[in-house]
Amino acid sequence: MIEVEQLTKRYGQKTAVDNLSFQVHPGHVTGFLGPNGAGKSTTMRMMLDLDNPTAGRVRIDGQRYRELAEPLKYMGALLDAKAFHGGRSAYNNLLCYAQANRIPERRVGEVLDIVGLTAVAKKKSKGFSLGMGQRLGIAFALLGDPRILMFDEPVNGLDPEGIHWIRNLMKNLAAQGRTVFVSSHLMSEMALTADHLIVIGQGKLLADTSMADFIAAN
Ligand code: ADP
Ligand code: ADP
Repeated sequence: MIEVEQLTKRYGQKTAVDNLSFQVHPGHVTGFLGPNGAGKSTTMRMMLDLDNPTAGRVRIDGQRYRELAEPLKYMGALLDAKAFHGGRSAYNNLLCYAQANRIPERRVGEVLDIVGLTAVAKKKSKGFSLGMGQRLGIAFALLGDPRILMFDEPVNGLDPEGIHWIRNLMKNLAAQGRTVFVSSHLMSEMALTADHLIVIGQGKLLADTSMADFIAAN
């Protein structure tokens, strides 16, 4: 379980995340809904310890991220800024990351298979379409076989087939008992993916509810 406790992030006068508290439970796809600029990415970056909160904290199974012995076994993420080396093949991109994190090489083949990139594994990733790049980003997230997956606006700009594939993947990961936390600015997307919803606006919590209750009330 992830516990976000009174999390706040200020940039100068601007409060991007404002005293936000919520929990994310395993075995569910939890949607993180809010308009552009609401503070979703900033919150997710702090959940992944990529950014320091101005106040508040995040606990993962009761621990701070930096206390986790093997963070990649806990959390994998697909964020907006994807860092791969365009001149390298998909396989080599993943292998470098695996080796840097002491993940066995056989796992590279496994994640390429999961994301459907086995046939193009030897191709340079700079020639990849947006959808293929997104699959490669997800392969990075899955490398450590993490119990928690975080996806920041994963379907933006994808074609219908790619969108369908990502929705199914997230549902399958949750059905395996993992924690899946996914952001979107579109309620229509959340309704098709998430079974629990955290809604924020201007950095503040607006709703924390099951999808069924949210739909019944709106
Ligand atoms: P169950 O298998 O019965 O859904 P869980 O342990 O998965 O049991 O969930 C426990 C409770 O927490 C359920 O009532 C569920 O609706 C609720 N819940 C699930 N996800 C979230 C969430 N992201 N935030 C708050 N409550 C949640
Ligand atoms: P979302 O992901 O919901 O679109 P963000 O978390 O990206 O929202 O941004 C929330 C607010 O914080 C926005 O007003 C944005 O301009 C501001 N913001 C985000 N990052 C920075 C930064 N590094 N410096 C200043 N302001 C920032």
